[in-house]
Amino acid sequence: MFTPQSLLITGGAGFIGSHLVLDLIRRYHYGGRLVIVDLETYAADPHRLDPVREDIIYINADITDTSKMGCIIAEYGIDTIINLAAESHVDRSISTPRSFIQTNIIGTFSLLEAARVSWKGRSDVRFYQMSTDEVFGELDERGLPFTESSAYAPRSPYSSSKASADHLVRSYGHTYGLPILISHCSNNYGPYQHEEKFIPKAILNLAAGKNVPLYGDGSHRRDWIYVSDHIHGIYQVLTTGRPGESYAIGSGTMIENRILLRYIIGLLAPRLSKSIEELTTLITYVNDRAGHDRGYCIDSTKIQDELGWDMMTPLQMGMSLTIDSYL
Ligand code: NAD
Repeated sequence: MFTPQSLLITGGAGFIGSHLVLDLIRRYHYGGRLVIVDLETYAADPHRLDPVREDIIYINADITDTSKMGCIIAEYGIDTIINLAAESHVDRSISTPRSFIQTNIIGTFSLLEAARVSWKGRSDVRFYQMSTDEVFGELDERGLPFTESSAYAPRSPYSSSKASADHLVRSYGHTYGLPILISHCSNNYGPYQHEEKFIPKAILNLAAGKNVPLYGDGSHRRDWIYVSDHIHGIYQVLTTGRPGESYAIGSGTMIENRILLRYIIGLLAPRLSKSIEELTTLITYVNDRAGHDRGYCIDSTKIQDELGWDMMTPLQMGMSLTIDSYL
């Protein structure tokens, strides 16, 4: 079992990053040094980390700054990096792609360089890259779920930038012997996700009596996983994953956006003392997203069999917790 002594988490003030930091301390009782780097873009909520401020070292910095990253690695004796820092919203990657190239590709490259130079061939270290299932593109007509060996076929500036980062990370593993790990998770949902994302936006708009936009005919299908289940996967990969390997993490089931929205409405209506019919009228079909991937789904057999991970939170429970956190 690998136990980091001094762990650097980038993007720790974001949605998944903040859940990871809080869970590492409260759920896994991580006792080593914990350094958080975040640039505090619009997507960050640094106050999420307030309850554990005394347990962490928090630095507002940009991962594209290689020398700063090198200084942090040296100063704090970092032996493990989990890189979650990213531009993460597909719609923004279509309207303003440059920042995605900058953070997701150049930023990952900068971190890799800082790690390579600082660690000088050490094997008792880990560079863990947070990838996504979107690097595999969309499911083909057979609808077979993605695995770690699915071919890369990214189709948006976001997924292309994440795919580029993965290739760089793997190349540092092969070329320099950097002990790398990669995981590809499906769509996360849960408390404290930025309200630009589909589920928080749906909940908040419905609660405020505003229209909820649904792309195209709403039949796009996604594999949703509750964020705590993803965090458990990250923990398993970090502590027991084999260096050089990648792991796919997901629920293994797909649900159409329009069905998910009706499901959310079914849970919300009694909480808002409104009728399902009334909330359903707020669904507004809008022009489809350019290049919109029709479906994603993950086969998690490898992480289940090799690392003993499993999904613990059924949709009903996860969505209820999520809805209650936004109301
Ligand atoms: P997020 O947008 O909520 O958080 C990203 C964080 O990165 C923010 O706090 C932001 O301030 C920070 N950041 C951005 N640019 C930075 C820079 N140059 N330097 C330092 N920090 C910077 O994203 P998220 O949903 O928490 O996703 C985290 C990671 O997980 C991303 O790499 C994303 O690609 C991946 N991922 C997300 C999902 C999902 O459903 N949310 C699924 C699979 C993979």
